[in-house]
Amino acid sequence: MANRLMVVIPCYNEEEVLPETSKRLIAKMHSLMEKGLITEDSKVLLVNDGSKDRTWEMITELHKENPLFEGVKLSRNRGHQNALLAGLMTARNRCDISISMDADLQDDMDAMDRFIEKYNEGCEIVYGVRNKRETDTWFKRETALFFYRLMKGLGVDITYNHADYRLMSNRALNALAEFREVNLFLRGLAPLVGFQSAVVYYDRSERFAGESKYPLKKMLAFAIDGITSFSVKPLRLITSVGFVIFVVSLFMLLYALIAWITGNTVAGWTSMLGSIWLIGGIQLLSLGVIGEYVGKIYNETKHRPRFIIDRYLNRQGDDPVIDD
Ligand code: UDP
Ligand code: MG
Repeated sequence: MANRLMVVIPCYNEEEVLPETSKRLIAKMHSLMEKGLITEDSKVLLVNDGSKDRTWEMITELHKENPLFEGVKLSRNRGHQNALLAGLMTARNRCDISISMDADLQDDMDAMDRFIEKYNEGCEIVYGVRNKRETDTWFKRETALFFYRLMKGLGVDITYNHADYRLMSNRALNALAEFREVNLFLRGLAPLVGFQSAVVYYDRSERFAGESKYPLKKMLAFAIDGITSFSVKPLRLITSVGFVIFVVSLFMLLYALIAWITGNTVAGWTSMLGSIWLIGGIQLLSLGVIGEYVGKIYNETKHRPRFIIDRYLNRQGDDPVIDD
């Protein structure tokens, strides 16, 4: 099995960290090559996500100085997930394994050895999972925890504390290419791809230099994208609420009727109270029903692959080629 590795790194305004990152990458790649874990023609692919600083110039220089580095430049800033996908889809035809990581050295490069060992054992996807989040602020830690819990609660298969530090084999990348959605949330898609996978733990350090390219606003947008791209449960919730209110309204109607019969009411109160509850319940219920259909449309428009085949026992002539 040839292990031609391509490390994919999205870079947005990373001029402050690139010199150090590239230095450490060279050392790491050489050590991996010496250990025989990856081939000599392995590469690092830097994706410039419409940076406004000297990032692209630096990537070009790196490529000139050292053929280890390759570069891709997006036409404009498209955000972390899209930049990463662009990189992975470029890497797909050029490597046997890809490892995606951030440019800011938060992901411990030494975990890469263990990633590749897992790949050699037959895993197609290896998730890098943070041991602890001490280097993050209290706020980021707590909101992240809440987010993972919420996602789990909504039935989304997501690995806790796994960001986008991940190994994907060529086959996994080809399968990922079948997902045609525009609202990208890669860490949610990887589990959907399936195949044999493993988890590798590592310590996350602080950003080496510069500041986070994920301000609160982007983080929130990312979280909302994650939820709404993978779950129609919020829509279903409306149906449930509508149903509960409808049932309550029946009791309210009964109560109002009894009050009316016993004569303890002002004129018009019974009909007002009854209709408010009844109509409210029916409205929410109908919204929920519409929501169910919207949910179906939403899932259909994603054009996600309906299945991904891991292996055939006897591949026939016109079965799609999926083995490498
Ligand atoms: N990034 C990108 N495009 C963006 C924002 C970020 O390519 O619009 C890259 C960034 O250069 C880094 C990675 O995504 O390599 C993660 O960003 P960052 O480290 O700022 O996020 P944090 O670790 O704070 O969540
Ligand atoms: Mg970071």
